[in-house]
Amino acid sequence: MVKNDKKNITIATESGLCLKCGACYAVCPVGAISIDLHSDEFPIVNLDKCNKCGMCFRVCPGLFPDQKMYSAKDKVGPVSDAYVGYAVDKNIHGIVTSGGVCTAISTYLLRVGDVAGVIMPRASCSNPIRNEVIVAQNEHEVLSCVGSRYSPTFTCVGLKGVQSGKCYAFVGKPCDIYALNKCKEYLTELKNAISYTVGVFCHHTPNYECTDRLLREQRIFPEQVAKIQYRGGGWPGFVRVFGKKGDVLFEQEYKKAWVEYMADTPKRCKMCVDCTAEYADISLGDAWNIAKSHKDEVGKNIIIARTQRGHDLLMRVAEVGAISIEKILLQTVLFSQKDLLSKKEAALGYLVWNKLKSNRNPCVKLRADMFLCFLKCLFNRILKLRGSYVLRGK
Ligand SMILES: Cc1cc2nc3c(=O)[nH]c(=O)nc-3n(C[C@H](O)[C@H](O)[C@H](O)COP(=O)(O)OP(=O)(O)OC[C@H]3O[C@@H](n4cnc5c(N)ncnc54)[C@H](O)[C@@H]3O)c2cc1C
Ligand code: SF4
Ligand code: SF4
Ligand code: SF4
Repeated sequence: MVKNDKKNITIATESGLCLKCGACYAVCPVGAISIDLHSDEFPIVNLDKCNKCGMCFRVCPGLFPDQKMYSAKDKVGPVSDAYVGYAVDKNIHGIVTSGGVCTAISTYLLRVGDVAGVIMPRASCSNPIRNEVIVAQNEHEVLSCVGSRYSPTFTCVGLKGVQSGKCYAFVGKPCDIYALNKCKEYLTELKNAISYTVGVFCHHTPNYECTDRLLREQRIFPEQVAKIQYRGGGWPGFVRVFGKKGDVLFEQEYKKAWVEYMADTPKRCKMCVDCTAEYADISLGDAWNIAKSHKDEVGKNIIIARTQRGHDLLMRVAEVGAISIEKILLQTVLFSQKDLLSKKEAALGYLVWNKLKSNRNPCVKLRADMFLCFLKCLFNRILKLRGSYVLRGK
């Protein structure tokens, strides 16, 4: 256990280990933590208000990377069954990220009254180049959240909107779900309140600076922007910036834009070993290497049903015809996600590197399998450098 006299999250924020989940804000009993959802800043503790209860410190996943998952062999976590699928509703084709299964599940849950709301992020209504988190209570609100936001969301901030006696679903990245689970450990009222968790696969979340740089380089002023669509317009789609008259100020194929503008990976994401939301009831990603890429065609999701509860829900959504799904082998999942999953190994190696270099994360316990990953990453890096040296030499 880490020695921490401060007993709050400043140890995470000061060492750059905050992954912007918002859990600290959600659990603080005296409102001593402030988060600016519209900036790249980490949360701030008001020491005058803080009563040193230590709750934020205990739930903070930034400081406590998930030690259980430090196995490069166990690449996608628990799997009940895996599927490839898409939402059947034609109205959402072309605006969702992959196959729209996340939107279909969320609207289904609200329609049948299984939950009172779905906690999910979206573009901020007051500032479209930033994000906010809402508790969506109807189909219209769920539709306002479609599409991946490749910028920080502090998703657990939405837990503040939970009302006692009601049930909710929660949509988030792997670290959001992990943080939610940590909150549930300490706040019993949350344990029963969150009935379903839907996780999206995640390679990394770029800071707002990436979006800001895109705008700067394209000479677009923030005041001109009505909407940023990081995904949409077919699959895998485009990054688009829309002006206030509905005009397109910028458009670039998603894959190109991701490499050109969104590649900057925050330090904590580099050490993240959960790529596929292993703690969710259902996890969703892009069906890379499986779905055909076409501008007018609907994309598809890789779907991992993990818990019995998640599997039952998925079957119900399929039975009412809201999604079309086809069972696939685990091997197909691994094939589809091979690029993302290689990151898991790299993250293990990075954890070793980081610990040896500066010991900035005191909670990481080094293990033999992690050293193997480190050596493998080092070897690959040397090969890469040698390759580019040879190419340059030619
Ligand atoms: C930052 C990020 C990185 C990703 N990296 C990968 C990857 O490497 N490989 C891969 O296969 N898939 C990745 N995904 C998942 C993929 O982009 C889709 O989110 C997923 O396939 C679900 O698609 P969908 O069509 O069902 O989603 P939709 O029906 O369009 O719904 C999207 C849902 O995601 C929520 N959401 C959007 N942005 C965020 C966010 N930043 N944090 C939390 N929730 C959010 C929305 O509120 C909405 O509920 C990533 C997603 C994000 C947000
Ligand atoms: S230690 Fe307790 S009171 Fe202080 S900021 Fe953290 S949760 Fe809030
Ligand atoms: S709880 Fe989440 S938002 Fe708060 S400091 Fe830790 S990682 Fe950052
Ligand atoms: S890479 Fe990990 S830590 Fe970073 S945003 Fe994604 S799930 Fe969170």
